[in-house]
Amino acid sequence: MAMFDRVKQIAQNVAAIRGRIEDAAARSGRRGDEVELVAVTKYVGPDDIRALARCGCTVLGENRPQELAAKAAALADLPLRWHMIGTLQRNKVRRTLELVEMVQSIDGPKLLEAVDRIAGELGRRVPILLEVNISGEASKHGLRPDEVEPLLTAWPACENVELRGLMGMSSWGGTPDQARREFAGLRELRDRLNVRLAGRVNLAELSMGMSGDFETAIEEGATMARIGSALFEGLLDG
Ligand SMILES: *Cc1c(COP(=O)(O)O)cnc(C)c1O
Repeated sequence: MAMFDRVKQIAQNVAAIRGRIEDAAARSGRRGDEVELVAVTKYVGPDDIRALARCGCTVLGENRPQELAAKAAALADLPLRWHMIGTLQRNKVRRTLELVEMVQSIDGPKLLEAVDRIAGELGRRVPILLEVNISGEASKHGLRPDEVEPLLTAWPACENVELRGLMGMSSWGGTPDQARREFAGLRELRDRLNVRLAGRVNLAELSMGMSGDFETAIEEGATMARIGSALFEGLLDG
């Protein structure tokens, strides 16, 4: 497809997604702009990301540190805000923290400790989300729901991270009802932690929902939706 047509298609897709976000937010008594669209760019290269940015999509998610670094370098002239949303090995933390606004995929105490320490060395205070395995699938990363409170209670002196909330993914190939239950479960966990650990944590963000289920996630209280393939409909092979 010619670049011009790709740009047009992306603009159409973004407009359609924003409309659907607005409608889903309205069904949960909110405005569309209360839900952050995190555009997941792992399927596309810098040219398509420029097209996205021109449509106002400047909060971007990547799930691989190396890809994130390459794209951030190629697009350094744009005011982009990168979110790390995938597995982060500890030896990639420093490079990643130099580039991102937020790490959404903190999946255990060791990564938390590494991010806190290295953020301190970089003189940064890094916003993070804890990734919770809400589907219970062995293939998914994240803390078990019952591990989150003990981690926060044992919260070491994490001075260089700012815990903003929770992130989760619904079961692969699950039904819409199942996804809804899983998203509601993450919201309830967030609310429970805010009560039980009042004064110690303030979990505002719920990052949940992808191309196939973001409307359900928003209805259940998502404040961030991580959307990839739906933004590039008509452009990807297969
Ligand atoms: C790829 C990815 C997404 C986006 O998935 P789509 O179904 O393409 O919208 C969201 N979150 C994470 C962690 C991902 O890896």
